[in-house]
Amino acid sequence: MSENEKILIFDTTLRDGEQSAGIGLTKSEKIEIAHQLKALNVDIIEAGFPASSPGDFESVAQIAKEIKGPTIAALARCIPSDIEAAWGAIKNAESPRIHVFINSSDIQIINQLKKNREDVLNMAVYCVEQAKKYCDDIEFSPMDASRTDMDFLYQLIEATVKAGATTINIPDTVGYTMPWEFKKRIEDVINNVPNMDKVITSVHCHNDLGLAVSNSLAAITAGARQIEGCINGLGERAGNAALEEVIMAIDTREDLLNVSTGINTKQIYKTSRLVSDITGFPVQPNKAIVGANAFRHASGIHQDGVLKAKSTFEIMDPESIGLSGNSLVLSKLSGRAGLKSRLEDLGYELTKEELDKTFEEFKKLADKKKEVINQDLEILMSDQKRSERSENKYELISVEIESGSEKQPTANIKIKNNSSNKIESSTSSGTGPVDAIYKAIDNLIDIKVTLNEWRIEAVTEGIDAIGDAIVRLESDDSNVIGRGSDTDILVSSAKAYIDGLNKLIIN
Ligand SMILES: [Zn+2]
Repeated sequence: MSENEKILIFDTTLRDGEQSAGIGLTKSEKIEIAHQLKALNVDIIEAGFPASSPGDFESVAQIAKEIKGPTIAALARCIPSDIEAAWGAIKNAESPRIHVFINSSDIQIINQLKKNREDVLNMAVYCVEQAKKYCDDIEFSPMDASRTDMDFLYQLIEATVKAGATTINIPDTVGYTMPWEFKKRIEDVINNVPNMDKVITSVHCHNDLGLAVSNSLAAITAGARQIEGCINGLGERAGNAALEEVIMAIDTREDLLNVSTGINTKQIYKTSRLVSDITGFPVQPNKAIVGANAFRHASGIHQDGVLKAKSTFEIMDPESIGLSGNSLVLSKLSGRAGLKSRLEDLGYELTKEELDKTFEEFKKLADKKKEVINQDLEILMSDQKRSERSENKYELISVEIESGSEKQPTANIKIKNNSSNKIESSTSSGTGPVDAIYKAIDNLIDIKVTLNEWRIEAVTEGIDAIGDAIVRLESDDSNVIGRGSDTDILVSSAKAYIDGLNKLIIN
């Protein structure tokens, strides 16, 4: 066992991550991500900002009720009604935390809050005291701390620790700081503010200059013991520190950092895929740790080295993040037991009914695609999960297309309405086949919607690859992502559109 001090991992994918432009997650999607974060064994899940909307309140409350193990945090401004909402949402958590924040830099105090430092100090103390009446575990964040006057920062932290804060988070809200500068700032806070040894020092870094992970690691060397971030580096603007990078940097360079985390790193890859799948934010191929090329050696010299001894060019074992070494292909001759054991290797535990259904889908896929590999199975599982979500009102039954260079594309669509149990069909023509499909669906599902993005990604290499369709839909104030996959990209497109419409109905 390591004697190293532990770094607490605070995940804010569901709060800061969800704030990212264009991501609007449904309650069941948030709960699914929260379950996976628990499997990853993060220490704290920031589940949302309950005062921001009734929907967010409900999601946080459900996560607090369902997820045992990690601490569940809820965000609140220094406003009494925000703190009440935060507590209302997390009061049933096994281990609840209220996270209170207020602007602390003069730029923000003057221009945004239109107040002065004394007001901010009073509001912060008042609200931390209020939160403390509900909950022992209180985190306080002086927003824009990296641009806050040092003396005022000390004053504010000293007062909020005295008022009951148990974690002090120093955010680089605008992603402005440099690693050596941030390290000094954290050291100065720890050395100059009384009682910092009785609380946990945390950091929350943004990636505007591409330094969020570096700044987080620099803070660790200064004594920070909690790191906040998001899976895949999601978050406001350029995002937060990518947690998988922070975690694997700590894991790989334990010799230098002398700290460790309690993370189950074998769940990293799966968590990254799930978050990308649900949010519709793809992971760039050359992304550290979880990119498709992160463990691929293209140069002949490197390949030669890795074949002789992995450590020649590999600093991490792909299996340590849960990339299965088992790349044997399945085919239509593979049986139910083979499929089951492969799915278990990938981290999916299925009931008998689920396995039956998956096996049926697998057979259909293997008929169209000669070789079925792990990525195909993952996409199959997420497609199935999507169609199983209980709130789905509409389900695609079939798509028929007539199209060609000399013909106006025409689509016939059959959809099942799960509330009335009726199957309805419609035919429409369009400027292209996808347009024809979407017009035919619009005839059947009456929601005024704008299609902001449509794209297809091939899941694997080869001409018979599964196409994963992703659409971004907007209706009134709601933004949703719809996804669907099939070996036929027109079927994927229809599924993705219906998936998005289903979400808009419940949002
Ligand atoms: Zn943030």
